[in-house]
Amino acid sequence: MIITKFVLSIFQQNSRLVACESTGRAIAIDPGADSAEVVEFIRESGWELQAIALTHGHLDHVGGTKFLKDKFPDAEVILHKDDEDLYYGLPLQPSMMGLPQVQLAALGLEYAEPPRLTRNWEHGEKYEVGKLVFDVYHCPGHTRGHVVLVEKNEKKVFVGDCLFAGSIGRTDLPGGDHDQLIDSINSNILPLGDDFVVYSGHGPETTVGEERTTNPFLNGSYMASRGRYV
Ligand SMILES: [Zn+2]
Ligand SMILES: [Zn+2]
Repeated sequence: MIITKFVLSIFQQNSRLVACESTGRAIAIDPGADSAEVVEFIRESGWELQAIALTHGHLDHVGGTKFLKDKFPDAEVILHKDDEDLYYGLPLQPSMMGLPQVQLAALGLEYAEPPRLTRNWEHGEKYEVGKLVFDVYHCPGHTRGHVVLVEKNEKKVFVGDCLFAGSIGRTDLPGGDHDQLIDSINSNILPLGDDFVVYSGHGPETTVGEERTTNPFLNGSYMASRGRYV
């Protein structure tokens, strides 16, 4: 597996190209903004971009989908159905998040209609990229239709905005639910095993074990400090 990271947009979002080195097939996970650098990288590598794989429908993860799809029209575009409203409502998301209309152009947050999705992720499906096999798990809580992509042979998990080094995704936006997010992480990410490397939508890489033991949202110290259970 070859993973190449591009940090895009004012949101410092981790957009990644993930390729199977033996077949040259690749996916773009969360192209968060238009990026000529990403397009150039794919062309120069000679990879076949088979999909734009979206973990969830937020603007900072899907904002570059149209740009990339226009350049690689054969790539499928995949998102869970429960985030379709967010995705197709992309041009409205900045105002939904309270960003001032007059600043959108300057911030690079004026969006055209995104391309039609090719299909939806299904919980439990296995998605093949050359010799790589991703298990797809529905992990709602940050958004209703968030998924994570797990490559078990490589022991890597792409978690979008479910989990960060030392933190978890925000749950105050429409569709967010704190308890549901904790449940999603406990059910789908922590059981993978401590040695799995975690690739988040923002910030540095981490591991399941590091987060299980030190992340205050997962080891109990957050709850204790808030007095919820003690
Ligand atoms: Zn998000
Ligand atoms: Zn994000």
